[in-house]
Amino acid sequence: MTATPAPSASLAQLDANGVVTVLGTVVNPAGLTHAKTVPVMRTNAFADPGLGASPVWHGFAIDQAGIAFTGDIGVVGDQRIRIDLTALRVLGDGWAWAPGDFYTQDGQRVPQCSRGVLTGVEERLAEHGLTAQVGHELEFVLVGNDGDALPTRAWAQYGLAGVLEYEGFIREVTTAATAAGVGIEQFHPEYGGNQFELSLRPRTPVAAADHVVLARIIISRVARAHGLRVSFSPVPFAGAVGSGAHQHFSLSRDDVPLFSGGDGPHGMTPQGQAAAAGVLAGLPQAQGVFSGSVLSGLRMQPGHWAGAYACWGVENREAAVRFLTGGPANPHGANVEVKIVDPSANPYFATAAILGLALDGIDRSATLPGETTVDPATQTAEQRAAAATVQLSDSQATVIDALDSSALVRGILGDPAVDALVAVRRYEIEHFGALPADELAARFRLAWSL
Ligand code: GLU
Ligand code: MG
Repeated sequence: MTATPAPSASLAQLDANGVVTVLGTVVNPAGLTHAKTVPVMRTNAFADPGLGASPVWHGFAIDQAGIAFTGDIGVVGDQRIRIDLTALRVLGDGWAWAPGDFYTQDGQRVPQCSRGVLTGVEERLAEHGLTAQVGHELEFVLVGNDGDALPTRAWAQYGLAGVLEYEGFIREVTTAATAAGVGIEQFHPEYGGNQFELSLRPRTPVAAADHVVLARIIISRVARAHGLRVSFSPVPFAGAVGSGAHQHFSLSRDDVPLFSGGDGPHGMTPQGQAAAAGVLAGLPQAQGVFSGSVLSGLRMQPGHWAGAYACWGVENREAAVRFLTGGPANPHGANVEVKIVDPSANPYFATAAILGLALDGIDRSATLPGETTVDPATQTAEQRAAAATVQLSDSQATVIDALDSSALVRGILGDPAVDALVAVRRYEIEHFGALPADELAARFRLAWSL
């Protein structure tokens, strides 16, 4: 697919907003956020023809040095990062930000570009007459400047103490997010010490993933101003509660929702059930996209609310697929939450996989297994089998092998994207997979930090 002509930004408008520098970001298969900046006068050139970047960006590893080469990713060649000016936001302090896509020098989409892959999935949904809304949750842990743990003397799970301890941080994140047009649904202390969660307003898929990047930038800038750092690691501290990056999605056809108003369980329509069934069935194959880092298996444990059991249930926090019914308490409407996604994942690829699996379920009229209404860990093997429940692997080598050999996920994301995902994760396993859990967590606590 070739690029549509880029709209141009009004430099006068940016100037009036005090913008001096424009920041463009891309997220790579290892979940790393990369950036280039231009003076405001160069904004339109960053959008078209874009700025050069080597294909090895898709293979950059989380250890600050490594490159995972694939057959398609080598040292020869150059691509263009083109920012999407329709998504540009003013951040304040002289900065504006826009998300970028990779294009070849002759204007074709690059198949490893996660934003491009998600755009393709969004287009495929539209061809099926479907639209999606996606809502992201960002969990993160505040740490010191040096990445070390902060005290937790004044902290309770979801406690007011955490709000008061960090009230300036919370207020400034809220102010900056509101100014940049990021919709915060809620922002609160989480279970773990110095852990917070910020939930974003649902948006269309690409825009929703863009806002994950934007929210991470805002959170990280404010934290830095307070002498803090933000760990977006799935397991900042071994043995403590992990951080998820749960994604909620809903689907509609002609503005009619698929997850409510039907005759199925909890009002699901037949296609809604098939979509949820498609996601559920695909989890073991797509786990490497959702929680594929070398650290992710430490989080994928029963009792961690991370969804270690592939089953579904209404408001079941131990189920990988949690169903939320619509109604007065849930104004955004019924939706499906995929809990196994963690913040080491590339949010664009993760959404693409979720929606691609949902579409696969619809295409083949997949059957939704029975609901799990209790903690699956308390069930017998027979009860789990009756709900087709499987415990997801915590062996990352197994998880990545399953991704590598998944024709289904390859069909959704494309071979070059899956090859890049597999390559960066195998690099992590080969170089760091033998480290003890505490060393592993410490080594990569700031790997995804901004
Ligand atoms: N921190 C948990 C995780 O790792 C999620 C807690 C919650 O359900 O909000 O996914
Ligand atoms: Mg949470």
